[in-house]
Amino acid sequence: MRTTSRHRAAARTIAAIAAVSLGAACSDNGGSTGDGTAGNYPDQNITFVVPFSAGGPTDTVTRMISEPMAKELGAKIVVQNVEGAGGTIAAGDVARAEPDGYTVLMHHIGMSTAPALYKNLGYKPLEDFEMVGLVTEVPMTIVARKDFAPATLQDLVTHVKANAGKVTLANAGIGAASHLCGLLFQDAAGVKLQEVPYEGTGPALTDLVGGQVDFMCDQTTNTSGQISAGKVKAYAVTTPERVKSLPDLPTTAEAGLPQLQVSVWHGLYVPAGTPQEVVQKLSDALKKALADQGVIDQMAKLGTAPVPAEDATPEAHRAHLDEQLKTWAKVIADAGVKAS
Ligand code: ASP
Repeated sequence: MRTTSRHRAAARTIAAIAAVSLGAACSDNGGSTGDGTAGNYPDQNITFVVPFSAGGPTDTVTRMISEPMAKELGAKIVVQNVEGAGGTIAAGDVARAEPDGYTVLMHHIGMSTAPALYKNLGYKPLEDFEMVGLVTEVPMTIVARKDFAPATLQDLVTHVKANAGKVTLANAGIGAASHLCGLLFQDAAGVKLQEVPYEGTGPALTDLVGGQVDFMCDQTTNTSGQISAGKVKAYAVTTPERVKSLPDLPTTAEAGLPQLQVSVWHGLYVPAGTPQEVVQKLSDALKKALADQGVIDQMAKLGTAPVPAEDATPEAHRAHLDEQLKTWAKVIADAGVKAS
């Protein structure tokens, strides 16, 4: 796993925030307690860690829910981007943070794919975290630079097969949703392409619009605006149904690649050992945020929706993660992808 000085600095910041949290909890008896109760939680800022770049899809969803959650919790939520290694650096940092409810991770489907893709992940998804609840499930789109030659998804498959050494496929690093979708695309097309990793699909999309890379898979929460503005070429959406906000975009099944189906679920996590009442407070605030009309409207514009209230719970989240870990381990092994 690659660790840059920026990642180490970010990790130190998280550790410092966590240390301050613990200090406050110990000195004034506020904050969460070690006995499973919530004490005065929250009585200081909460950090929401986003494992990808600012401006990308994970960041967008996090910022959408953090404001109504902050209102509900009566505390400020600070969003911090800790990029790198397909989201695994941030996940490892949060797994090792103080379990006091002041360091919260937003992660997506990558939580369930990384164990099959990394030999030394450094954290165990089911053991090292408490799940707070699921947030949303976002369709992906296959998009290319505007002047990329293939006109349809079928043309894209033909083109990449004929030009495998030349075509570039952007993603947000091994373990990112864009990486997973790219793997599924290459597997379905029977081709191996040159992948260009970024620290998030925010900057990857900027390069796609600028013509520096050829194509990528990314969530509607990032691509909708550029598709509607005609700044990228869109081939298909990776869900069984079309997306209401992009009605002209065919599904992968309609466009001739029915095996390519994936949508990107998101959830909130805190370190294992966080008091149950704190987890419950966060989960209740999440439920409230997902019922907020402003959040529902913003998500609808970007091709997604909040999960139903019963899925914004620790139990539903844990069950989903457990099932997804098994599903993706098998899909990744069947595709012949080895952990590195
Ligand atoms: N969620 C994106 C991905 O997994 C990355 C991002 O949020 O920037 O590809």
